[in-house]
Amino acid sequence: MSAPTLTFHNGVEIPQLGFGVWRVSDDETEAVVTTALETGYRHIDTAAVYGNEQGVGRALAACGIPREELFVTTKLWNAAQGYDATLRAFEQSRARLAVDQVDLYLIHWPVPSRDLYLETWRAFERLYADGLVRAIGVSNFLPEHLDRLLAESEEVPVINQVELHPRFRNLATERADAAHRILTEAWSPLGQGTILEDPTLAGIAEAEERTVAQVILRWHLQSGRVVIPKSVTPSRIAENFAVFDFELSGDELSAIDALDAGGRIGPDPASFGG
Ligand code: NAD
Repeated sequence: MSAPTLTFHNGVEIPQLGFGVWRVSDDETEAVVTTALETGYRHIDTAAVYGNEQGVGRALAACGIPREELFVTTKLWNAAQGYDATLRAFEQSRARLAVDQVDLYLIHWPVPSRDLYLETWRAFERLYADGLVRAIGVSNFLPEHLDRLLAESEEVPVINQVELHPRFRNLATERADAAHRILTEAWSPLGQGTILEDPTLAGIAEAEERTVAQVILRWHLQSGRVVIPKSVTPSRIAENFAVFDFELSGDELSAIDALDAGGRIGPDPASFGG
């Protein structure tokens, strides 16, 4: 079974369930991504700062799947923000991934203290106009960063990749994204494994005869988000992909929505990276 796709406002489609490779070493990445591709994943989420773009590139080159069926996201690291630095960093990422075109390129963090994200976005617009990327987006942008970007730019980001899981709904950001036809993509969608013991989730999992991880991923999918769980364990890689043949009820979705406790696991984008 293949993952459903969502369509960006520019018409490009993204597989709604992807595979994240944060904290996977470059050496290990080729094998892990190969397992994910064999399982059926077609969308890989990496970043320059993860140090494993080469491993991703090796797996993509060796898999035998036509390039147009694969979707690869990478991200510009904070230290490379600024117009010229962005163009240079992009070329390095593209070379490490060994692809002609990157499907989705994201500004990893806004880093408001450096105030370079507008200039960085100019470079992203240039990469998009030159056809080197199929779509451009942002990550960890708060509504205030989006407002400023939209007021002062031509291109609207296609997606905003942010921390989002049952304990941290990030509702204000998701609403701001939706108001501008920007998709929301959930990072740490399983709360980095910290919420799998939750009794409400366990109850729903028991009722659906699924695992808690599958229930959480299903909640993301039915809420209309792109989601990129990570695992290096083949059985969990498969488990996290086996989520297209059941459906949560409206009451189950609401019960998961109600678990929001407003607490981030990761850094606050208002202050991170300065
Ligand atoms: P995640 O929520 O996907 O959790 C991953 C962890 O959960 C695994 O290491 C494992 O311990 C556990 N796990 C996974 N599947 C499981 C299963 N089926 N059963 C039990 N336990 C399971 O967390 P993540 O890795 O932080 O986030 C996923 C991806 O999001 C990353 O790999 C990366 O691609 C992206 N990300 C982006 C940013 C950003 O700033 N843009 C930040 C963090 C992560």
